[in-house]
Amino acid sequence: MAPPRDTNDTTNDIDRVREPIVSPYMPKYPDPMSNVSKFKIIESTLREGEQFANAFFDTAKKVEIAKALDAMGVDYLELTSPAASEQSYNDCTTISNLGLKAKILTHTRCHMDDARLAIETGVDGVDVVIGTSSYLREFSHGKDMDYITQKAVEVITYIKSQGKEVRFSTEDSFRSDLVDLLSIYKAVDKIGVDRVGIADTVGCANPRQVYELVRTLRSVVNCDIECHFHNDTGCAIANAYAALEAGATHIDTSVLGIGERNGITPLGGLLARMYTADKAYVKNKYDLTKIRDVENIVADAVDVTVPFNNYITGYCAFTHKAGIHAKAILNNPSTYEILDPTDFNQTRYVSIGHRLTGWNAVKNRIEQLKLDLTDEDAKQVTQKIKELADIRPLSLENVDVLLRQYHSAKESSNHLSILETVVSPDQLT
Ligand SMILES: [Zn+2]
Repeated sequence: MAPPRDTNDTTNDIDRVREPIVSPYMPKYPDPMSNVSKFKIIESTLREGEQFANAFFDTAKKVEIAKALDAMGVDYLELTSPAASEQSYNDCTTISNLGLKAKILTHTRCHMDDARLAIETGVDGVDVVIGTSSYLREFSHGKDMDYITQKAVEVITYIKSQGKEVRFSTEDSFRSDLVDLLSIYKAVDKIGVDRVGIADTVGCANPRQVYELVRTLRSVVNCDIECHFHNDTGCAIANAYAALEAGATHIDTSVLGIGERNGITPLGGLLARMYTADKAYVKNKYDLTKIRDVENIVADAVDVTVPFNNYITGYCAFTHKAGIHAKAILNNPSTYEILDPTDFNQTRYVSIGHRLTGWNAVKNRIEQLKLDLTDEDAKQVTQKIKELADIRPLSLENVDVLLRQYHSAKESSNHLSILETVVSPDQLT
């Protein structure tokens, strides 16, 4: 008979080693198809990001952004096509010659002239794209699938012959015919393309559709699979995650998600998502402490502010307010934090000057101020804070003044009457 199982013994439980991110819904065994622990980032702020309504990057700004992203450890930088303008051509050359660790790519139409220009600039690889949806075939370039396939083979063969990496992507993949898609990807895989790309150019896909398409494609090609998701309906991060689970290998991002319309998968948001899936991989590969600096550079350059609710760096991303949350956070931050702020060079903040506050949080502040007060005192002052905060929220300074007044009054034993004399937050300055 088997010995009774010791229910406290969880040392063999795979989830235990992943603490503090523990979920009973995590897969018990690794999925061999999934790449959530070995993905690469193609950072496209200098290509997709240039399509953001406010964006204009001069050469110096592009170099600054490229260096900041390289220092963070992104795998690739994708640049605007050298065919776009003379300055774009020169910038491709400049950034290719910076000697960065990240590989430099440029994004071009599936056209021999564009491919030749790209090679001239000295980039490490070329991301070729062509529209295959019926909309684009009818209303944009007007070419049929035979023509598109023939053109793709010609351009890819040329780029490979120059010793460069090449990706072939369709545009608007989720509104393209599946048979068309698979047959063109199969054809380019056969001639040695490095990556095929799926692009949700219009932001219409949901995670389930992404999973199915990538999974199907994974069984048809041997090369890597890159995915590009627009965020029109708020699915860009979830779609990227679903793609990696289904076997995609590369994800396109931009800083703060800037891009055409309302943009693509944001770099910070993707890193937050992937950190919860495999913290060690993400922490070892990318310098997460630099996210804020990179976002500030880009936000400044395109004249926007970092959104209040931004992943990781939004001003309230690590602010805890409700009394119940504050108490638990002070005991163990993992209770209400899936991301450890110190990993991102961010600071946790427990907000206490409001009517939802709790005495444990106030007690924590008393300890920080090194005031000699009891739990009973903390409860009394908390009641007063709630009363005053019904008039208006108190600043931390207001709270500190109240605590200090209470503390000094306690020495002459009139601390309770002090509370009665304070009837407005305005008295606490
Ligand atoms: Zn795009």
